Amino acid sequence: MKCYDVIIIGAGASGLSAAGALVARGKRVIVFDMGARPGRKVVASGGGRCNITNLAVRYDRYFGENRDFVRGAISRVSPRDIIEWADAHNIKLTEKSAGQYFCVDGAGVVLNALMDDARGADFVYDTTVSKVEKNGDDFIVNGCVAKSVVVATGGTSFGVFGVSDVGYKIAKQFGHKIIPVRPALCALSFVGASSDLAGVSLEALISIGKNTVRDSLLFTHFGIGGPAVYRASLYDLGNGISVNLLPDMDVAGALRNAKRTQGRKSVAGVLGQWLPARVAKWIAGDDTRNIADCKDSEIVQIAQRISQMSISGDKIKYHGLSSAEVVRGGVDTNTVSSKTMESKLCSGLFFAGEVLDVAGDLGGFNLHWAWASGRVAGENA
Ligand SMILES: Cc1cc2nc3c(=O)[nH]c(=O)nc-3n(C[C@H](O)[C@H](O)[C@H](O)COP(=O)(O)OP(=O)(O)OC[C@H]3O[C@@H](n4cnc5c(N)ncnc54)[C@H](O)[C@@H]3O)c2cc1C
Repeated sequence: MKCYDVIIIGAGASGLSAAGALVARGKRVIVFDMGARPGRKVVASGGGRCNITNLAVRYDRYFGENRDFVRGAISRVSPRDIIEWADAHNIKLTEKSAGQYFCVDGAGVVLNALMDDARGADFVYDTTVSKVEKNGDDFIVNGCVAKSVVVATGGTSFGVFGVSDVGYKIAKQFGHKIIPVRPALCALSFVGASSDLAGVSLEALISIGKNTVRDSLLFTHFGIGGPAVYRASLYDLGNGISVNLLPDMDVAGALRNAKRTQGRKSVAGVLGQWLPARVAKWIAGDDTRNIADCKDSEIVQIAQRISQMSISGDKIKYHGLSSAEVVRGGVDTNTVSSKTMESKLCSGLFFAGEVLDVAGDLGGFNLHWAWASGRVAGENA
């Protein structure tokens, strides 16, 4: 049996970050991955340009049952640390929108840098870990023995890259609870969606109870997608959502004004001044009247369809795991140390990345979590 200090399960973003930190400490490390190559999601991330971090990283941009959990790792590894790390590896970054950093030369350079840091670790590919055995203080994985294991198996979404639920099974084996897993950062389908609008996009404000998300919304064949919807999908949508398609306008006031000044225009014609033509037609529906013929009460109803488009929770479905960028749910973080990423139930067992019940906002927050939690696990395992 081969002896190591640490066995890492998963050569993704967090596993490689942990490997780099361990190698820097002179530890003997072996990394198992079920795929033929490391970092498959890293290479695909950000449309191939890897949205590596975001200056807005803060605990409240992360979701999970125990939202404070991320505080330890993100205070240890900040966005500036990641930018400095990139700089030290000659990775050129560009700030696409405020604080959101992408790699100029593609995501491949990030993977190369991670592998550079992890040089000295043993890598075993095409090898799915199905269990972890414990013998006294030792962990045994696929014929290798070590005093620590880092479970970095990721989430179960976007299966095209090869994913598994083995991380959850290992956690359960050692007494951890799993918060039910569901797709997140994904499109939503809903009963009654109009495929006529597919392809139209506009800036919208989505309200989920007291929370709001403002970003670009894309109508799809089955419902709605785009960044605003991806971000809204991080919340529990059981109580439904309300979408405002013209968040900067007092729509009822503008329609009343149009009734006075542009009375001979159709409802769709008036709305078409502010909304894409297909959306304006969809809102007007069968109403072909001129705006002057609409009662004030009808104007209020039209305005509500635009600024308070409600979709009840029972009608909403998250798009499947196959297209979701991340998952909500995972290993319950109440029984994991936020300072070290070590299990509070089994010493020597560490978790990093998306396998934990942590899902970040769109815009580099998930990779940041993977880098930070991986590095912290690697500094402590
Ligand atoms: C298309 C896409 C684009 C994205 N773009 C961005 C972005 O630009 N910015 C951002 O912040 N986030 C992005 N994300 C999210 C981000 O990629 C993930 O949150 C992040 O990769 C999670 O890191 P991880 O180490 O936890 O898991 P992963 O990177 O998924 O790594 C897990 C690894 O474990 C291996 N594994 C799993 N089970 C086993 C097993 N039983 N035995 C052996 N190996 C196993 C897998 O093969 C994989 O290599 C994107 C996600 C997707 C799907």
